[in-house]
Order: sequence, then C-alpha cells, then structure tokens
Amino acid sequence: MVVGKGNKAAGLECIKMKLGEPDASGRRRPEPIRDSEFVIEAGLIIAAVGEEPDLAFMAGDAAATIDKGYLKADPVTLATSVEGVFAGGDCVTGAATVIAAMAAGRKAAKSIEKYFKGEPLNVGREGEEVYESKLLVETYGTPKESRAPMAMLVPEKRRGNFNEVELGLSREQAIREAKRCLQCDCKICINLLGCPALITEEGKVAVDAAGCPGCGVCAQVCPFEAIIPGE
Ligand SMILES: Cc1cc2nc3c(=O)[nH]c(=O)nc-3n(C[C@H](O)[C@H](O)[C@H](O)COP(=O)(O)OP(=O)(O)OC[C@H]3O[C@@H](n4cnc5c(N)ncnc54)[C@H](O)[C@@H]3O)c2cc1C
Repeated sequence: MVVGKGNKAAGLECIKMKLGEPDASGRRRPEPIRDSEFVIEAGLIIAAVGEEPDLAFMAGDAAATIDKGYLKADPVTLATSVEGVFAGGDCVTGAATVIAAMAAGRKAAKSIEKYFKGEPLNVGREGEEVYESKLLVETYGTPKESRAPMAMLVPEKRRGNFNEVELGLSREQAIREAKRCLQCDCKICINLLGCPALITEEGKVAVDAAGCPGCGVCAQVCPFEAIIPGE
C-alpha cells in the first residue's frame, strides 16, 4: 500500500494479497499476488490498520524499554524503565481495545500523581494486578460435546438490508448448549470433591475444621480464591 504525500492523496495504490504456504509455526502469512496492483481514488486516506508504534523518541533508552516493537511497562504502575515515563494502551499491549486503553490511562494517572508527590508508586495498588484465573476445571469423565452450529442467513439474502445474519439456536439446541456448561462457577469444591468438611451456609462455602484433612484441593479449584489453606 502506498499513500500519497500529506493529506491530499490522489489515490491509494493497492495490491491483492493471498495466504501463502504455512511457515514453520504453521501460520499462513499473506503475500502479494503478482501484477494485481490497482488504485482506489480518494480525497483523504487515513491508514488505520496494521499500525505500529513509532518509538524513535525513546531510541536512547531502547534496550531497556522496548520489547518486540512495544514499550515495556510495569503491569501495575505502568512505569517504564525510564525515570518519569509511564506507558499504557496499544503501544504497550499491542492492538487491544478502547476499554483496556482507558483502564491503562487511569492507572498511569494514579502513578503520575504519586510520582509528583514523591510517593512509592506501588503502595495502595492492591487489586490492580493483571487477573489470572487459577481455576482448574476437572473435565475427567465428562463427555466431549461440540458447540451447536448456528443457522446463518445465506449470502445472497444479506445484500441491501440489515437483517440478522446469525439466526439463533433452536430451543433444543439452546437446551443442549446449556447442558454443555461444566458448572465450574459455583461450589465447584463441593460438586467435584464431595468433601465432607465443606459445608454451605447461606450460600457461602465454609470449612468444618474438625473434618478437614488439609489436602488443599478445595483451595486449588476455587475460582474465587475464597479458600485459603491454613486459615
Ligand atoms: C480500525 C480499528 C478499529 C477498531 N475498533 C475497535 C472497537 O470497535 N472497539 C474497541 O474497543 N477497540 C477498537 N479498536 C482498538 C482501539 O482503537 C485501540 O485499542 C485504542 O484506540 C488504543 O488507545 P491508545 O490510547 O493506546 O492509542 P491510540 O488511540 O492509537 O492513541 C494514540 C495517540 O497518540 C498520538 N501520538 C502518536 N505518536 C505521538 C507522538 N510522538 N506525539 C504525540 N502524540 C502521538 C496518536 O496520534 C494518537 O492520537 C480499533 C482499532 C482500529 C485500528
């Protein structure tokens, strides 16, 4: 793709692409089709996809701060290895979402305020860590059920209207889909372990210390990290 100089682009030179042979990792990369060049006339061209950060301004600190073309930043404080420089959003994570960029902006603002006040950046930041689920779902013995295929509008009927393309599931399909749920979100400890020491009280799970063998498996499977071994 070639874009005209400045904003007064006369046209966008394009070339058709096709997927090449799989590389060593099995990924098929796009490659240009020979002699397929064509021009799209346009008054203004804004190149928006396939963008990457221009980190030339960090060049002097590149070794410590740039990783695979993106800025490196602490996941909680968003501090880079350059004193007083904080980074977040797509230039750190790669292409992501508006929500993620806004969240990073809030985190960075907190850090910058602390930085100016001379306070430690990571004090009072509990709960801001990147959440990693420790849930281990026990699927042993569970028959594998494939997802129900969604009925789709045929391509010929999609043109010239805003009709739904995905037509939904039938009642039977929806019930079957619901039954595929492994129900790992609620009292998984009791459902899976049948542990006599685990009891429910008003919807909460409690441990009867007298009957607890101390194996720690309930703590391992709890999706809410509600059970802490030794407490
Ligand atoms: C085509 C497209 C569609 C998308 N659709 C969605 C969607 O539907 N939903 C969704 O959540 N996300 C979508 N995204 C992703 C979303 O736009 C980005 O994740 C988000 O905008 C990232 O925000 P950011 O602040 O990190 O970066 P940006 O929004 O890219 O902001 C960076 C800003 O910094 C400016 N800048 C760059 N260099 C300098 C410099 N040296 N000095 C001063 N300023 C500079 C840039 O001009 C730009 O204004 C889409 C992205 C693209 C490209």
